[in-house]
Order: sequence, then structure tokens, then C-alpha cells
Amino acid sequence: MTQLKWEYYEKNGKRDKAMKPILNMDLMKVKHNTSQIVRLAGQYGISVAGITKGCCGNEEFAKAQIEAGVDFLADSRIENLMKLEHLNIKKMLLRSPKLSETNEVVKYADYSLNSEIKVIRALGNSAARMNEVHSIILMIDVGDLREGIWCEDINDIFHTVESILNIEGVQLEGIGTNLTCFGGIMPTEKNYGMLVTLAEELRRRYNLLLPIVSGGNSSSLQMIYEGRLPKGITHLRINQSVFLGFEIGHGKKLSGWESNIVTLEAEIIEIHKKPSYPRGNRAKMNAFGNIQSFKDKGIRTRVILAIGRQDMDMNGLHPIDPNISVEGASSDHLIIDITDSKHHYRVGQMIKFDVVTYSSIITAMASSFIQQKIV
Ligand SMILES: *Cc1c(COP(=O)(O)O)cnc(C)c1O
Repeated sequence: MTQLKWEYYEKNGKRDKAMKPILNMDLMKVKHNTSQIVRLAGQYGISVAGITKGCCGNEEFAKAQIEAGVDFLADSRIENLMKLEHLNIKKMLLRSPKLSETNEVVKYADYSLNSEIKVIRALGNSAARMNEVHSIILMIDVGDLREGIWCEDINDIFHTVESILNIEGVQLEGIGTNLTCFGGIMPTEKNYGMLVTLAEELRRRYNLLLPIVSGGNSSSLQMIYEGRLPKGITHLRINQSVFLGFEIGHGKKLSGWESNIVTLEAEIIEIHKKPSYPRGNRAKMNAFGNIQSFKDKGIRTRVILAIGRQDMDMNGLHPIDPNISVEGASSDHLIIDITDSKHHYRVGQMIKFDVVTYSSIITAMASSFIQQKIV
């Protein structure tokens, strides 16, 4: 029986304090992956926004992004950008500002992605009062149905641009779009081409520079690797591929990128042999409204770990021990099956998982019940 180093946390043979589950993020790998996209984008003259929202504006993560060569730091939440105020790099707010936060947005972000003229006016007012000029990226929805003016409403787009050009305190620096996050729509020559054509039309019509044509997110990586990104896209915003090492949409591993960047450790609180098929009258659904299906595998060694759905999204956990299977989770318990494992586990040890979905990573990063560690 071998004992792996990561299986338990003990100091001088004695546990030193009550432990939360631990979320480890490998910063060297983050930096490596970010450098990959920066270098690739650079070959096409494309600038990159490194995104801090996935780890709630973590400063070490942000610094790693800067060291890897990103041109902007971007986040959906102004609270996160506030934490990064002292870092000397352009900042971008990704989610359309709330009317109630325009002062903070002007103060802590140089750019914001916008789609409401009312908000842009309020940003202008805030900026003018502070003697600042805030940069606007106008968002266009090319099909994914999240933020942006609908691409076919061309008069609405023209009208909005004309209004922005008349607002003091703001400057229209570009247009942008977001894809794959809601409707699952992939970037193509067609929908990106539409954005590029629109930018050209706006430049011509209003005599603008419009330097930023911001394409999407991690789902663009495949296209750029294949050299299919339409000329004229000048900016990308990348988050989850940096954490996962694969492209989003088709889920293809990106060659030369690191994976297994984020891992989770949780403590064993019970080990018992039990049947694998529940006994008794079964309800229509469990406490979470799901109908779980069970396979009768006979008597198995089942382990409970002290972590559950209230801590984070539990769907993206892959045990590092290949002979452990995840059976399911309730609000505070994660149930695994260790019958086939070659290791000898004991109560009090930590079991380690790769965290392999963006949803699991971001919820764990934001959880006050989990201790986040940079390694
Ligand atoms: C979160 C976000 C991104 C990053 O998306 P990934 O798929 O994680 O790379 C880009 N743009 C906007 C507007 C976002 O909200």
C-alpha cells in the first residue's frame, strides 16, 4: 500500500487546525497558457485581455497575466478591478455597467463593454465630473443572444453610435461581440466577418479610428490556431482556456498548453462498506429535485468527503486516483467509491481531484468555505 503525499495534511504527525477544503491553482501553468495565447495573437496583431473574474480578481493571478504579456486586465465585476487598482495596465469592465456604479466604473476601469445608451450617458456624466474620458466598446449581438444590440438592427446601431459621439466624457474605441457563453454559438468567418464589416462601415460613415474590434472568448482559440480568424478582429478576451488548457466549444485539448491547473482537496469523514443500490421505498426525486439512477454493483467501500454543493458546483471533479469513482453529492457531502483503489485511505486524509469545468472552478474560487491557494 502506497501513501501519496497529497492524501493527507499533517504537521509533525499532528493536524494543526481545522481544515477547509483546499483549492490549488498552479500559477506557472496559468502563466504558460496565457503566454501561448499572447504569442499566437501577437502574430496576427491581436491584443489580448487577461481575465481575472474566474478567480475573483486575485492579485497574483493578475500579475501572472501581466508577466505573460496581456495588454489589458478585464473583469465582469468592478469590485474585482478595484482590488487591482495599483497594477499599471489598462483595465476593462466586461459586463455592462450598472447605472448605480458608473462612478466606480470610470474610476477603476479605463474601458467598459456597453450596450445601453442610458448607461453610456451616465458614464459620460461621471467621467465629465471627474475630468476623465472613459472608453466605450459597443457590444453587438451576432447570434449568441447574450449582450449587445442585435446585429440586424442596423439603424439602432447607427443611432447609438451617433449618440455616443455626442456624449462628453466618453470615447467610442471599438465594437465587440461575445459568443458561446449563452446560446453556445461558435465563432465563424460569417459572424466575425459581420462584426469586421460593421466596424469598417462605422469607420467610413463617421470618420472614426475604432481601433478595437473585440472578438469573443476562449471559443475563438481553435479558429486562430487554424488561421481562420477574419482579418480585422483586433482584440480577444480569454479566461477559461487558461484554467483548462482546452478550447471551449469543441473541448479540444490545445497542443502545447498545460492542463490540470486547478485541483481540489477535501477531507474524508466516513469510510464504510455498504450496498451500492439504495434500500427502501424510493421517492420520485431526491432532495435536489433530481432522479438519480443507481447500478447495483454489490457491496462497495464508500467514502464521504466534507464538501458539497453549498461549497461549489460539484460537477467538474475528477479524482486523481484513477480507481476512485464519484457517486454524487448533496449540500455538504461528496460520496465516492474507493473499492477499486490501490491506496489505503483513512478518515482524516485528503482526497485530491482535478477541477475540470469552468463552473466548478469559478464557484470554488468564490466560496468562503474553501481555502484558495496559489501554488
Ligand atoms: C467571461 C467573459 C469572457 C471570457 O470568456 P471565456 O470563455 O472564459 O474565455 C470574455 N468576454 C466577456 C464579455 C465575458 O463576460
